[in-house]
Order: sequence, then structure tokens, then C-alpha cells
Amino acid sequence: MRSRVVFPILILLAAVTTTPAGAADGDLATSKSDLTSPKKVIKTEREWAKQLTQAQFYVTRRKSTEPAFSGKYLRNHALGMYVCVCCDQPLFNSRAKFESGTGWPSFWTPVSPDRIQTAPDFHGTEPRIEVTCSRCDAHLGHVFDDGPPPTGLRFCMNSVALKFVPETKGKASAKATAKPSRSPKPDPAPAPEPDPSTPSSSSPSPSSSPTP
Ligand SMILES: [Zn+2]
Repeated sequence: MRSRVVFPILILLAAVTTTPAGAADGDLATSKSDLTSPKKVIKTEREWAKQLTQAQFYVTRRKSTEPAFSGKYLRNHALGMYVCVCCDQPLFNSRAKFESGTGWPSFWTPVSPDRIQTAPDFHGTEPRIEVTCSRCDAHLGHVFDDGPPPTGLRFCMNSVALKFVPETKGKASAKATAKPSRSPKPDPAPAPEPDPSTPSSSSPSPSSSPTP
């Protein structure tokens, strides 16, 4: 029973994490300079409690879950980056956010596979895959296999574990003209259209995912 639920998600996760860089996350990362390798942030319980609000502490450091439909980012459709509330590591791009109808902010991929860690979680009523921040081990939420294409994954996150950084106009226009800085190799992805006439939608497809 447990393996039937958990293994398909692990297979999907493996597919995402083995996708060559630039294919899965190419358009989802704001810039290559954001994709620095994570360095561990280690703090004591007391230090985390001092830095975080009570709700943030109980979710990220005690693996609690915020009530459904209570999170401030549930219906946030602004363009930007969702970073870890504990260590500010960029985790999810708004372009990977979709309306799951579950009551929690949902994404179909992290900004980069190395930003998150996953592990089986047998503490609930059914086996789940826990998602944590790879830099500070903050509990973020869980990942399920009922998400939209192209990954088929639903990263079900707690708003309180995230901090939204809006995309600024200056940064967006700079992206189009910016020279690749410190890029170790040429970008394999073709150059984007210079004039995106169609506004991009933050929800790739409406999903009828059941409540977890
Ligand atoms: Zn973190």
C-alpha cells in the first residue's frame, strides 16, 4: 500500500531531477546568477525561534501544516520568486504556480532540483513525500503525483514557509538584454522571442486535483 503511493512520485521526482539543466527550469529561473550552489544554513532551535514568527517556526522547524485556504500566497498571481522564509534560498518561480484547488500554494516544479530535498513521510494518515529546503532543512510541504504537465507533480507548499519576492520591471527588462555572466557553458536553450506578444499565464492548465 505504501509503495503504491510513494513509488510513482519518486519515479516522477527522479525524472525531474535528472533533466538536463536548461530544459526543465530554463524559463523558470530568473537568471543564472540566482542558481548558486546551496550552502548549508545551520542554526539552533533558539536561533530559529528568535528569527521566525510562531507560525513560521512551527511549520518550518516542527513540520506543522497551515490550515487549508489560510495562506497569504494561495491566490497570489504576481510574477516573482518564492524563497525560503528561513534562509532566503529561491525555491519556486511564480511561472510554475498553478491553481490546484487544494487550499495550499501549488507548483509543478522547483526553480532547480538542488533547491529541495525529499523524503518519505509516514506520519500522516497516508504515506507522503516530504519536501524540505536543501539549504536550511526547513519543512516546506509535500509533493504529490497529481500535478499538471510537464512534470505531473504537485508541490503542495505552506505559504508561511515561503517569502514572495516580486519581479521588478527593471529586472525583467534587464533579463532581455543582460549578458550571460559567469556562465560556464553556452546556454543550450534557444533564445526567447524578443517580442512576447502573448502574456504568459501563471497557470499552465486548470487542475482538478483532489484535496490531499
Ligand atoms: Zn531554507
